[in-house]
Amino acid sequence: SPAPGDGISVRGLHRAFGQVKALDGVDLTARTGAVTALVGPNGSGKTTLLLVLAGLLVPDAGSVRVAGHDPIAQGPAARARTGWMPDTFGTWDSLTAREVLLTFAAAYRLSEAVARARVTDLLATVHLTELADRPASVLSRGQKQRLGLARALVHDPAVLLLDEPASGLDPRSRVDLRILLRRLADEGRTVLVSSHVLSELDEMADDAVFLSRGRTVVPDAGPGGGRSWHVRALSVEALTAW
Ligand code: ADP
Repeated sequence: SPAPGDGISVRGLHRAFGQVKALDGVDLTARTGAVTALVGPNGSGKTTLLLVLAGLLVPDAGSVRVAGHDPIAQGPAARARTGWMPDTFGTWDSLTAREVLLTFAAAYRLSEAVARARVTDLLATVHLTELADRPASVLSRGQKQRLGLARALVHDPAVLLLDEPASGLDPRSRVDLRILLRRLADEGRTVLVSSHVLSELDEMADDAVFLSRGRTVVPDAGPGGGRSWHVRALSVEALTAW
């Protein structure tokens, strides 16, 4: 399991797409063993930030450490440590849920025996055992979210980067997600989870980081205010100011 202190730290991150400054000075810390919410309106830079952390996008400036490594220098090799769950579903055609996970396991070069055992475990973890051998295309939205989460976990990563995982979930599925994220954090992972709706995450996250127009913002910082908050301590006033 990951060593203590192997969380996420980001300093002075910038990334532009043409004239659009998607990231315009992001500082962020996410602790190992905690669930950190990355909250901001649509277009605030959440997906861009997660892509940089996953080693899938090169920033223009700034420094990043993820689980003790630099994903910018490592590029795609950084995938070994990070589990990435995109905010869109893949087109899986006629693959079953199990086959989807086995395909990703093969991409991480897990041996077939290891992959089969892990995939069976993961299907149980995300409550998809009974649907494992049906085409993934017939799964409901919530079931697809769970498959996406299992996909992110297939190589047992130290860091989880989840883009809008609570989006569109019914209350029951949201509770399941909260329990699962808690367990993953308690196992010693770093969990960073984005949303444009704070209320989706307020029961789930230990800390929160806010993005606005590509910048980390500090609502209600006060003297000596940090960049990370207990989500439950946040006031409505702080959020409207933001
Ligand atoms: P969020 O995930 O918070 O909705 P994004 O990171 O997706 O925000 O986008 C931040 C800004 O960067 C938006 O203005 C978006 O249109 C722009 N952007 C993101 N990716 C690209 C891209 N590949 N090409 C051009 N503009 C992009």
